[in-house]
Amino acid sequence: MKETIQKKGSGKVVLACDLGGTRMKFGIVRGGGVLAETIEPARAQEGLAPQLLVIRAAWLRLLERLHLGISDCVGISVSFPSLIDATTGRVLAEYGKYADAPRLDLRAWARAEFGLPLAIENDARMALIGEWRAGAGRGVDNLVMITLGTGLGTAAVIEGRVLRGRHGQAGVLGGHLTVRYGGRKCNCGNLGCAEAEASTSFLGELGPTLPEFDASPLRRVAPLNYGLVFQSAAAGDPCALRLRDHSLLVWGALAVNLIHAYDPELLILGGGIMKSADVILPAIERYVRDCAHTPWGRVKISASKLEDRAALVGAEWLLAEQYGRGKQPRAGRE
Ligand SMILES: [Zn+2]
Repeated sequence: MKETIQKKGSGKVVLACDLGGTRMKFGIVRGGGVLAETIEPARAQEGLAPQLLVIRAAWLRLLERLHLGISDCVGISVSFPSLIDATTGRVLAEYGKYADAPRLDLRAWARAEFGLPLAIENDARMALIGEWRAGAGRGVDNLVMITLGTGLGTAAVIEGRVLRGRHGQAGVLGGHLTVRYGGRKCNCGNLGCAEAEASTSFLGELGPTLPEFDASPLRRVAPLNYGLVFQSAAAGDPCALRLRDHSLLVWGALAVNLIHAYDPELLILGGGIMKSADVILPAIERYVRDCAHTPWGRVKISASKLEDRAALVGAEWLLAEQYGRGKQPRAGRE
């Protein structure tokens, strides 16, 4: 690892973390690259406060591996699964994960524990920032992203600026755009959200609504996951085929909604479900080709390049944006 650093040159590093619902990913980031990384179980049901010691220990362990100390760090970047007020750095709401987070002042914690500034951002927006600065979206100024996973995350960059809106909601509520009028009740309160119609967290509800479910091997698995749905669909299971094809239509409709809303040149698809990209990518391309109104040409559709590192890679850029001089600087390459 030390050799890696020497090759990459000197300069300050960023302590980055991506706090997911089931796992917390940590990285030491410099020059758009992750120098060292580790993963810890999230225990999100216990709240965020009990995890702060785990988070601190993980970063210190990574720094030690790299023969670095806190004095080599320029700041902290946190990717978090909620709406975030970028001005205050406060978490605005909780969705059953890290329920105490809106009451915590993470910036104060970072100052007290490390003497470092902390920047925090919504996880899907953070993934898009990473892809935009150093992944599939490099060099593109108008792009949107969908992360297909436990929930459906989205984010947008328009004319070279990360879209946030007055309350941090702009672009990131794509999973809660209505794709079925009068459809399934979503956790957000809306009916027929894309997330409620096709995401891992709703698969357990969706499966049993199908008449083919009782005779399907999917019935024996709890919690149901898309890896198994795609695998069983490939083997010809009628229930899995229906679930797969229904989900592809929902994600296609979501893609068209985002294209109509934000006028991107590029749509990036990421998230854990994209392990089945060989099926998903062509299906979304076909749906968008048939249904999106883009008389100027075609929106390019790509799979995430950075995969589960995307939210870490954007760390330097986020810090520079929130604490650096000027507005929205270029990628944090030194
Ligand atoms: Zn919703």
